Amino acid sequence: MKLILLGPPGAGKGTQAKMLTERFDIPQISTGDILRAAVKDRTPMGVKAKSFMDAGGLVPDDVVIGIVRERLQNQDCAAGFILDGFPRTVAQADALKETLHSLGKDLDAVISLEVDTEALVERLTGRRTCRECGQGYHVKFDPPREAGRCDACGGELFQRDDDSEETIRKRLEVYHAQTSPLAAYYRNEDLLLPVDGMQEIGTVQEKILSHLQAA
Ligand code: ADP
Ligand code: AMP
Repeated sequence: MKLILLGPPGAGKGTQAKMLTERFDIPQISTGDILRAAVKDRTPMGVKAKSFMDAGGLVPDDVVIGIVRERLQNQDCAAGFILDGFPRTVAQADALKETLHSLGKDLDAVISLEVDTEALVERLTGRRTCRECGQGYHVKFDPPREAGRCDACGGELFQRDDDSEETIRKRLEVYHAQTSPLAAYYRNEDLLLPVDGMQEIGTVQEKILSHLQAA
């Protein structure tokens, strides 16, 4: 299964990707996670990316395209993958097409999670992530059993720096300007599966699975 999860920040891409990885036993490729790890490790790529991420902008195309090109050649992508947060521009989508073509692979579907802007702000301001295992939570919609502690591994939960309301608004603007045209891009390729992302996490997952079966 070779999938893209498309949608604005906070739509639930990471949440759904984690469930789909378990279901299909294929890796989640989150460019945001890869970039955050590079920032934390202060690698040359992380140093370059940090200022764009802090400002809520996009990291330059050549950097993220390079990450994904390399990642897709990994053996663990042989049976499929879930791209989460990539592509985010038409140039990235074109580069992905070229890379997949050169690897002899085709996308199966692009799932587009549709969520209202105000719900996105509430989701992102309440998002918490485990520092140890990366599991995502929400203080109201998906709280951990013990406040501030990961159910899965007991790790500390933290709030992302870019999940402040000001940076969220900027990220949403960037999404509308640069990423939202990708819905039409993949509709033209007959790959787009729109899913109502306003429902509960489990319901969204069921809808995605039934769309994939029907596709
Ligand atoms: P994205 O990866 O698209 O930026 P996340 O998967 O990290 O989004 O979800 C953002 C926040 O919203 C998280 O705190 C998550 O727990 C919560 N969330 C995800 N899906 C839903 C949903 N269907 N209803 C309510 N909250 C959700
Ligand atoms: P995310 O975890 O997907 O919300 O991404 C966090 C931040 O990483 C974004 O706001 C961007 O600055 C950067 N980023 C992640 N993926 C991409 C991408 N495909 N293109 C450009 N920047 C990206």
